[in-house]
Amino acid sequence: MSGVRIDVLTIFPGWFEGPLTTSLLGRAIADDVLDVRVHDLRDWTTDRHRSVDDAPYGGGAGMVMRADVWIDACEAVWNDLDAEVTRGRTVRGEVPGEPLTAGGDRPRTILLTPRGRPLTQELASELAAEDRLVLLCGRYEGIDERVHELVATDEVSIGDYVLFGGEVAAAAVIEAVTRLVPGVVGNQASPEDESFTSGLLEYPQYTRPPTVRGIGVPEVLTSGDHGAVDRWRHARALDLTTERRPDLLDRLEEHDRG
Ligand code: SAM
Repeated sequence: MSGVRIDVLTIFPGWFEGPLTTSLLGRAIADDVLDVRVHDLRDWTTDRHRSVDDAPYGGGAGMVMRADVWIDACEAVWNDLDAEVTRGRTVRGEVPGEPLTAGGDRPRTILLTPRGRPLTQELASELAAEDRLVLLCGRYEGIDERVHELVATDEVSIGDYVLFGGEVAAAAVIEAVTRLVPGVVGNQASPEDESFTSGLLEYPQYTRPPTVRGIGVPEVLTSGDHGAVDRWRHARALDLTTERRPDLLDRLEEHDRG
């Protein structure tokens, strides 16, 4: 994949200024390997207060994000249409209960939510095969269920905890996916060699100086014997995975058994 485009919908577009201009992500955007467009959901509101939320039907604490605003925004973003033109109306008309589409297929549209599919390296690779992604960042108590039904193609969680909003989760998806875009990570061997891609956690790494507070570097790493280094690394990766994430070994066995 190269030249991937990611659209983000959020009520805090300014939140992304730091992450998108820093380090490798910033460089990928400057080099046109990555095209990230951040949209302010409030551009699709129709009232004077630019409200995106309302009280939940059935009562309860907190506010829920309104489906009509999200749907107008997503249809506009899918079809590359301006908020000025699309505010307050769906682009293609509605067929009750049917998922909405862009001109043709919807781009992969990911709603960030704690109840989503866990973000794993496997999912990141799957998403990296797309040339376009749309990320929806919730706030408040979450988003009206009809957005889940009609707009999202995927629901993704970055872990079993609850954040204030989907922005951190969207940034995690953007980083995990774009690291896999050729040209983003300088040494393209790196992503293949690291935690999760092989099914194991990564082995320990060392660099200069050779001794730190009395602790040296495992001798094998300075032996010049590449075969021995590979065997040592694999053994350490297995030890670490067995100790910390035995569930990954079970998954690896299942995968090997086919
Ligand atoms: N009431 C919701 C629940 O219990 O599942 C949590 C809402 S949370 C305060 C507001 C928004 O943060 C969510 O709509 C979602 O977009 C985002 N969010 C929170 N935790 C997340 C997670 N672990 N993974 C992905 N998105 C998350």
